[in-house]
Amino acid sequence: MKPHITPRTHHTISRNLISPEALKVLYRIKENGYLAFLCGGCVRDILLGREPKDFDLATDARPEDLRKIFRNCRLVGRRFRLAHILFGQDNYIEVATFRALSDGNEPEVAAATRRLKVDSARTADGLIVRDNVFGSPEEDALRRDFTVNALFYNIADYSLIDYVNGLSDIEGRLLRSIGDPRRRYVEDPVRMLRAIRFSAALGLNMETETYAAISDCRDNLALAAPARLFEEVLKLFSCGDAARVYQLLKETGLLGVLFPDLAEWVAAHPGEGDAMTAAGFAYLDTCRRDGRSLNTATQFAIVFGAFHEDLAAALLAAGDHTETGACMDAVERHFAGLRTRIMTPRSVSMDVAHIMALQPRFADRRPGNVNRLIRRPSFEDALEYYAFKSHYTRANHEDLIWWSTADIPEPPPVHHRHSSRSPRPHHDP
Ligand code: ATP
Ligand code: MG
Repeated sequence: MKPHITPRTHHTISRNLISPEALKVLYRIKENGYLAFLCGGCVRDILLGREPKDFDLATDARPEDLRKIFRNCRLVGRRFRLAHILFGQDNYIEVATFRALSDGNEPEVAAATRRLKVDSARTADGLIVRDNVFGSPEEDALRRDFTVNALFYNIADYSLIDYVNGLSDIEGRLLRSIGDPRRRYVEDPVRMLRAIRFSAALGLNMETETYAAISDCRDNLALAAPARLFEEVLKLFSCGDAARVYQLLKETGLLGVLFPDLAEWVAAHPGEGDAMTAAGFAYLDTCRRDGRSLNTATQFAIVFGAFHEDLAAALLAAGDHTETGACMDAVERHFAGLRTRIMTPRSVSMDVAHIMALQPRFADRRPGNVNRLIRRPSFEDALEYYAFKSHYTRANHEDLIWWSTADIPEPPPVHHRHSSRSPRPHHDP
């Protein structure tokens, strides 16, 4: 198939929007007689007028060729080898050789293909064998997930190379699966979460089938590797429009596969429970816009806050827990179940438990409590959760300001600790 080529005069990718390191690598590969393309997210982001996170390159040079061209080259990856061209300590440009077919996770693909009886010459076994095969630029474009993610920028003539009508989808602000979305989601169920993330974060509408197929394939998400799901959940939380992510997860039914206990509880509490959970997702966006990055435990605490609070209240009412014990136990029980699906590190769930268990203590300003509380390693995170609650309920603002800014009477060493803490959150009065 002949690609659609858009010359430099007809698109917005200019070299001064590309990092000098990426340009250097592109030119060097080209000068050695190979194709050198920018690909994936960076091309998409520049065309959408956004600043790319990083610059990924694709080429027909093999990893061994790249090692000959670049002294500062490290080959990484087991199943498919990639080259990292190093610029200093932790700055590198990733260069991938064009490859054919999907990089779906094989056991997942195998299980899903059998279960859904997908008619396919591309059986799971076929995929395994062929996964590691180098391909043409066209094959490399077609194995990608969405059309907006499959454009190439060619350093040889500064043109855009488009095998999938990605440019017109970018112009139409449309997220569209490459090929039959059902098959692509079965091959790799994580693509459903990627669809939601790109749609939310980049403000793209999902093309009808790309969207509808998610509801059909959603149960397959349970087949994805739990470690990968954890990584993807972190990306969903921090994508900049987590509020929209929550809406899309609910609409498509993916919420019930990703966070089964939360989804069940939200369905049983469609008023307040849903509203506070939605507010939790939205609060992540607010913090991001304010330039404050919340750590993973705080993000999880805020997203699951309404659910965990209700669970803790039920345990407390049942009578055999202290208030602290009920908070800790609620969180631990939830994560014990969730962990089979999303590989959440124990350190994260422990921190979430501590964040929740410290909440009741913000009501007590006696010096003894104050001094003990501010020494807790989770104090800052717990205060962030308290800020979220205060923001959501429009209550306790005075308390929040007091805890955030007050001069807390304490002996000198403790005072030192206090003043060395990271900046307190700011909140509207
Ligand atoms: P981000 O800004 O989140 O990094 P990205 O588009 O660069 O977005 P990556 O996960 O870095 O996403 O992947 C780089 C490219 O590799 C994508 O643009 C896409 O073309 C391809 N890709 C990544 N994951 C998949 C997948 N699961 N299936 C098919 N193609 C994928
Ligand atoms: Mg990327």
